[in-house]
Amino acid sequence: MTAQIINGEQVARDLRKQLKEEVAFLKQEKGIVPGLAIVVVRSPFARMHVARLKERTCRQLGIKCEIIYLSETTTDEEIIYRIERLNDDRNIHGINIHPLTPHLSHTLISQQVDPEKDVEALHFLNMGDFLIGRPRMVPFVASGIMKLIEATGINLEGKRAVVVGRSQLVGKPLAFLLLERNATVSICHSVTADLDSYTKKADLLVVAAGHPRTITSRMVKEGAVVIDVGVNQIGSHLIGDVDYEDVKNIASWITPVPGGVGPVTIAMLLDNLIKAARNS
Ligand code: NAP
Repeated sequence: MTAQIINGEQVARDLRKQLKEEVAFLKQEKGIVPGLAIVVVRSPFARMHVARLKERTCRQLGIKCEIIYLSETTTDEEIIYRIERLNDDRNIHGINIHPLTPHLSHTLISQQVDPEKDVEALHFLNMGDFLIGRPRMVPFVASGIMKLIEATGINLEGKRAVVVGRSQLVGKPLAFLLLERNATVSICHSVTADLDSYTKKADLLVVAAGHPRTITSRMVKEGAVVIDVGVNQIGSHLIGDVDYEDVKNIASWITPVPGGVGPVTIAMLLDNLIKAARNS
């Protein structure tokens, strides 16, 4: 079997078309131009190229975007001070904080974002609403992954879904969304004993571990849908967490890296931003 490729670029293009129409409507009907602030602490963790890609996408859609660059030696206090100013800025409707260096606390910092501007859905108020099934904001990486799963047409009811990775941003919210679709979900992590015994049974396998070749074909069930969230820089190349060339011979559907999850997550971040602007 050779897997069909889940075309994240195409899914993202369709989403961006809808978003562009919504932005134009907001501008025309309410005089609102959605504004996104991205806080980037310069470091190898920061995914600066993604911040620039977000900025470019905002421009294409008619959204205002401001990137705030801070030095690698910045402190939690300085970031919180910047966030408080963004909270008070009427032209900013959403705040996105890029991955921070380990000496900074994303959890603490996320709680300082005005919940109305929390487009990452990491504030405990938004997370609480999400977990009781009445979300104001849905964590955008997880909702992007759901769009890709929907693109395959797989009916998740009663299916075994395995999520490798339990981060606050990806693994945990995704597992919850899959559960809401009546999949039976296992969450695996770095301390999971015998990872293969879980992945091998998965009808849907989502991998967000952050390590290349975490998943090879012998760990995948024949005909599984495989979503690779990982982005790993190897020299000048980006590769995922799944051994794509190997696994594509056994999966029914697979996402490429790049061109899979990444483009869709940016669109879903902007979807949250437009919601926030509409409610402002
Ligand atoms: P993270 O916070 O580092 O979490 C990684 C998770 O994977 C942890 O729960 C960890 O377990 C688990 N893990 C690590 N190695 C493992 C292994 N060998 N077997 C099983 N589980 C393992 O990372 P993240 O923010 O969730 O991101 C994960 C990946 O997705 C990264 O490559 C990141 O760049 C990528 N990403 C892509 C997008 C996109 O838009 N394309 C967005 C976000 C993230 P423990 O909890 O036990 O440590």
